[in-house]
Amino acid sequence: MVVGGGAAGLMAGACAAELGLRCVVLERRHRPGLKLLLCGNNRCNVTHAASVDELLAAYGEPVAGFLRPAITAFPPTALRRWFADHGLQTTAHEDGRVFPVSEEADDVVHCFRDVFRDREIPMVLNCPVLSVEPDGAGYRVRTTHFSLAAPRVLVVTGGVSYPKTGSVGDGQRFARDLGHRVAPYRPGLAGIELEVCSVAQRQPVSLPATSVALCCAGIERARTSGEILLDRTCARGPAMVNASRIMARENLREVELRIDLFPAESAEALARRLAGGRRGRQGDVLPREVMEFLVRQLPAGAGHEALARLLKDWRMPVRGVRPLKEAMVTVGGVQLEEIDPATMQSRRCPGLYFAGEVMDVDGPTGGYNLHAAFATARLAIASIADGIGARPLPAAAEPTGSRERRGRDDQRFRPPRPFRKRR
Ligand SMILES: Cc1cc2nc3c(=O)[nH]c(=O)nc-3n(C[C@H](O)[C@H](O)[C@H](O)COP(=O)(O)OP(=O)(O)OC[C@H]3O[C@@H](n4cnc5c(N)ncnc54)[C@H](O)[C@@H]3O)c2cc1C
Repeated sequence: MVVGGGAAGLMAGACAAELGLRCVVLERRHRPGLKLLLCGNNRCNVTHAASVDELLAAYGEPVAGFLRPAITAFPPTALRRWFADHGLQTTAHEDGRVFPVSEEADDVVHCFRDVFRDREIPMVLNCPVLSVEPDGAGYRVRTTHFSLAAPRVLVVTGGVSYPKTGSVGDGQRFARDLGHRVAPYRPGLAGIELEVCSVAQRQPVSLPATSVALCCAGIERARTSGEILLDRTCARGPAMVNASRIMARENLREVELRIDLFPAESAEALARRLAGGRRGRQGDVLPREVMEFLVRQLPAGAGHEALARLLKDWRMPVRGVRPLKEAMVTVGGVQLEEIDPATMQSRRCPGLYFAGEVMDVDGPTGGYNLHAAFATARLAIASIADGIGARPLPAAAEPTGSRERRGRDDQRFRPPRPFRKRR
């Protein structure tokens, strides 16, 4: 029995079918994969093109150590082959983010729905599971309308962000009721509220290639890089949302962000360039309002050296982080010590498995969170199959590029689009 029909639940159902396991997916909302549809601004960044070690390094410990068996068994290349074999071609951007070629999140959900249709995998929609209780050697799964006994249950109910997509913390509650420890929730990959947001009074501004040091009491504790998007109240973009995740993971308090707007250039070289009146490549893209704001921070008569130092060390005290419901990922969840990373089985309750964001697993922005959900779901199902002597999961076949995604024109399986594309 699979509880939850999001990224991990859909992959779990598909893998169970590959192995010939009988399984039913129970989904709380009226359609599966609602959060998948929102991913990557409706384009769905399904994974990150990187080696296993590079991928794991990006999660950081303790998540990396926990995910190693799942990701080693199902690395990004295998996930992309799996999608290709099921008719969904993907493409890697220069920065490593991997999207469906169509750049339509819809196509990812349709890929899974096609597998469910073709393999006749039962999925019950509008079916919130109310509890998972021990029942003999297995579990009893209660919903509003019926209850089912299952020898093995995989809980894939997600985190607690974007609750309208269905993930409201039910799985963590089931886990707690069954004696598991649950790490407190914090917003990961969320916007950061800063004093300097007065910079972008009229419209959001983009600072494209920054390096951001997270400092506590003057000591650098971590560093992120990439774009920053400043709006009137908040800073987002990869460098900032990744910083919010680190703050949550490391429990950093009273953080000051020190932003280097020209990480590729020394302060001296930058000062020389400014003195020469040349703005250079980065200077061309640094918004005028930001430059004007920074110049205003300097004492009258300050020279190019002072401006260069400020451009490389713009200090912003953090006022707060946007709330959990707005975060892309939840930091916290079923504690990793409660789960065997080699199987995804609970260490407390034999036959109970977890995968995806319901666990205290999160990664940076860039496809890492979906990859973790897919890989842990696949490992959980492979472990269940192994436990009952079913055949092992086949390796994903090489992409042929010849098969079109099936069912694309099958209107019966094309529900209306709930979210408008924001491009
Ligand atoms: C706006 C946004 C953009 C994102 N973009 C990306 C991206 O581009 N790339 C990336 O890697 N990650 C991205 N993420 C993160 C990613 O979506 C999640 O990490 C991932 O979906 C987690 O998968 P999951 O299956 O564990 O949980 P979910 O996808 O949240 O699925 C959980 C499912 O369980 C169901 N459920 C919950 N409770 C019950 C219950 N009691 N009974 C039955 N069913 C239940 C829910 O309805 C839901 O369908 C994004 C997140 C957000 C919010």
